[in-house]
Amino acid sequence: MSDQPQFRALSLGAGVQSSTLLALSAEGVLPKVDYAIFADTGWEPRAVYAHLDRLEREVAAPAGIPVFRVSAGNIRNDALNPDHRFASMPLHILNQDGRPGMTRRQCTGEYKVRPIKQKVRALLGYPYPNRIPKGVFVEQWVGISTDEFHRAKDADVKYMRNRHPLLDIPWSRSDCVRYLTSLGLADTPKSSCLGCPFHGNAQWRHIRDTSPSEWADVVEFDAAIRQGNARANASGSRLLGEAFLHRSRVPLSEAPINHVTAAERAALQLSAEEAQALESGVEDGCSPWACRGDAEALTQDGFGLAT
Ligand code: SF4
Repeated sequence: MSDQPQFRALSLGAGVQSSTLLALSAEGVLPKVDYAIFADTGWEPRAVYAHLDRLEREVAAPAGIPVFRVSAGNIRNDALNPDHRFASMPLHILNQDGRPGMTRRQCTGEYKVRPIKQKVRALLGYPYPNRIPKGVFVEQWVGISTDEFHRAKDADVKYMRNRHPLLDIPWSRSDCVRYLTSLGLADTPKSSCLGCPFHGNAQWRHIRDTSPSEWADVVEFDAAIRQGNARANASGSRLLGEAFLHRSRVPLSEAPINHVTAAERAALQLSAEEAQALESGVEDGCSPWACRGDAEALTQDGFGLAT
């Protein structure tokens, strides 16, 4: 049995770390990847799509690396479509008795992991439901830098073996930013859905202050999911409570997203970690291969949003 991968594929989220891996591979500093795969939730910020276009045109294409964009649909439209099964986003819930909660996160698996696996299987020549022979696997590169090494995980299937080349070099996020800056890619954005409930105040402010149309879009979506997703409502499992995008569980248009000063932090009795989470949200958006354990631990089910 061969222990060689059939090919090398980069999981390209188009954020700082995976953009760095693509460029290092394209420049020959790291071995060449055969493919880069971007899982499109259909609701990334415009800046991410623009950056991805640039990466493909200026970095991947000249090096002969194909970039595949794969998708399981549009997460925003699916949430608001009563006829569509919806993989739940991690919404902030206010229960009827005033207790806070969160809905279970299924969106990363549905909109990111699943389409990538489908593409890898197709490239291997064993589309689902074909059985992949023992010993046949691909090497999948995942962009995890040294400051977040605890997020490095194995893939959950035998036909994909994860590698984290930034840990081998070893490079931190700052090293990546320096390198991208040297290539003229200093403005590499954070990659995650425009209305991801994991955003911190800094991300919400960035949308509000730089892109009025995208701000209007997330405010409208936030109001539309107040009673849960459309499918759950249509099927009679209406949310017993209210759902919000912002962690304060206040409508986004009124949510306190301005920077918390040291005096306000003291008045609110927030620890430094709480203030940091409020400001920055979940680190580096959502990577399909590096779920945040603590974010998952916060989740609850039973709000009728998991259908
Ligand atoms: S970015 Fe947020 S909303 Fe989008 S798939 Fe990831 S966790 Fe879900």
